[in-house]
Amino acid sequence: LADRAMRPVKTITQAAQQISETDLSRRLNLGRQDELGKLADTFDQMLARLQAAFDRQRQFTADASHELRTPLTIVNLEASRVLEGKRSIQEYQQALSLIQSENEFMSRLVSNLLTLSRMDAGQTALNMERLDLSDLALESVERLAPIAARKQVELSTGELPELTIAGDRQFLTQMITNLVENAIKYTRGATKRVRVETGSTSVNDREVAWLQVVDNGPGIPPEHLPHVFDRFYRLDKARSRDSEDSEAETAEISTTAGSGLGLSIAQWIAHANGGEIAVKSEVGKGSTFEVRLPLLENGSSI
Ligand code: ADP
Repeated sequence: LADRAMRPVKTITQAAQQISETDLSRRLNLGRQDELGKLADTFDQMLARLQAAFDRQRQFTADASHELRTPLTIVNLEASRVLEGKRSIQEYQQALSLIQSENEFMSRLVSNLLTLSRMDAGQTALNMERLDLSDLALESVERLAPIAARKQVELSTGELPELTIAGDRQFLTQMITNLVENAIKYTRGATKRVRVETGSTSVNDREVAWLQVVDNGPGIPPEHLPHVFDRFYRLDKARSRDSEDSEAETAEISTTAGSGLGLSIAQWIAHANGGEIAVKSEVGKGSTFEVRLPLLENGSSI
């Protein structure tokens, strides 16, 4: 009798011994309704979570390596090509500037990868302080004004009322910068406009501050919208470019194209600061990215 009662325990022990990091697909599937059955179900659910986490990690490493391979190949090919024979000064200069831009891309990629892996590991300490969201928006806009001017984008702000929130200055600035940089980067056409607005509203009896980055760019097709915050997700591979785009503009987009990590970092920052981020977009009209953060009530401490 005792032996029969111990049988499921032996099954669980054996299964646990067989599970390794490389094969997390095993499940106990004990199918019993008693306490042991519940234990086995909990064990199976834990395995499913572990498997999903390992899969995500593997995918992340594979995507990161894939992203690095293209610029590394370009640098290698270009260096070999110019070293094959005697070249003019102009050819050397062209080759070096291509190598430099690929290097810049890799530096940005590696720094984003480091940021994300620290975030995943829970090693990112937030330094919460009392802040004005509108001040942060204004600072970011002023810092990005020269880039907007170079790309002939009209960058403007709305009224920017005082909005006291509790948050990490550095991270929130990075989030706003990512959104405004994207709007500048992807906006095309004759008159390119990017507008940053802030305000407050009440959601389920709670006061929240909002920040919107509105552009009149190409917009994001509905099938892509649910994925833009995913890591490494980019539309430019899928998006067919407007025929009226000039060649220079197309080239500009491809060289400034990122690796699809900016929005996932922005989303992490919004969540870590107690907020949310969302996007609305209409193809041919433009996109609006909105962040909502809890407003700090008058006199309350952080
Ligand atoms: P990236 O570094 O490629 O810009 P992001 O995570 O910031 O990565 O953005 C993911 C993708 O979403 C971009 O590659 C781009 O295709 C699309 N996207 C982001 N912002 C905008 C925007 N304002 N207008 C149109 N497309 C956008």
